[in-house]
Amino acid sequence: MSNGSSNLDFKGRVAIVTGAGGGLGRQHALALAARGAKVVVNDLGGARDGSGGSVSAAQAVVDEIKAAGGEAIANGASVTDFEAVQAMIKEAVDAWGRVDILVNNAGILRDKSFAKMDLADFKLVVDVHLMGAVNCTKAVWALMNEQKYGRIVMTTSSTGLYGNFGQSNYGAAKLALVGLMQTLSIEGAKNDIRVNCLAPTAATRMTEDLFPKEMLEAFRPEAVVPAMLVLAAQDAPNRTVLCAGAGTFEAAHITLTQGAWLGIEADTPEQLAARLSEVTDREGEAVPQSGAAQGANEVAKGMANAKRI
Ligand code: NAD
Repeated sequence: MSNGSSNLDFKGRVAIVTGAGGGLGRQHALALAARGAKVVVNDLGGARDGSGGSVSAAQAVVDEIKAAGGEAIANGASVTDFEAVQAMIKEAVDAWGRVDILVNNAGILRDKSFAKMDLADFKLVVDVHLMGAVNCTKAVWALMNEQKYGRIVMTTSSTGLYGNFGQSNYGAAKLALVGLMQTLSIEGAKNDIRVNCLAPTAATRMTEDLFPKEMLEAFRPEAVVPAMLVLAAQDAPNRTVLCAGAGTFEAAHITLTQGAWLGIEADTPEQLAARLSEVTDREGEAVPQSGAAQGANEVAKGMANAKRI
């Protein structure tokens, strides 16, 4: 399928953006529609902690897209409800025949220090962020494989990548999305399905009480949108984690140090303790192509060292 002359022209593409009734999702939906995509604007329409719900938030964004001459459908499914998500995908296919782009953006917060957090709040946050993205991705996966085309953006977070006080549930769910992306980017590659992660920083209702006032303007949600567009484009990379906020764009990598081969003798724990700074030294670190590649490398290092003994 041709995508027009420009890689960032989304004419003819069908996109689903979850949690697009406000905040970042709304900006993603508006930008995709402005660049020619037909967009399913999904949003449960609940509060920041996930309570309540109404399709009116999604409908307002659809009205905005249509007023600007674009095409969009509102959908009020919760991403945690697999049957409702499947119905959403069917709605998109019935209307427009395909789904090219999925932006997994829906999310909630239930912040508390781990000591004070109920397991129910932990599970709910994991359910919305991780299982919500799993549900939506699973519901489009077979279709994207059949189409031999798909672009999936997972919304991770600096909290998942690096941690933040009071967000153990959120951080665990958000880094799980990077893990999901790592494997799906490998499994989808043969059918031109590219899976990437976006780690945004933006002033939305999710963060409005966390940022100092003077930072709110710099962290306009619109400033994150270019990263989403590049990750959803025809020429998108695969298996990239892009951080975006206030006009700065960065890539996060899960690197591996050169390490040291110490063998499996009885005194290995003592040797490891003595040489830990060498094992953790970051000079020459790399990003393995897969988990299997990392394992194979460990064996190869052992064999190379065994020969030298
Ligand atoms: P937001 O609260 O404005 O947007 C989240 C949207 O998701 C809301 O409109 C909400 O109604 C919707 N939603 C919640 N649960 C849902 C469900 N079960 N089904 C469907 N929709 C649901 O917050 P935001 O800042 O725009 O967040 C968007 C995404 O970006 C989230 O995944 C968030 O974790 C992530 N993120 C945001 C920041 C930031 O700085 N704002 C930083 C890192 C990650």
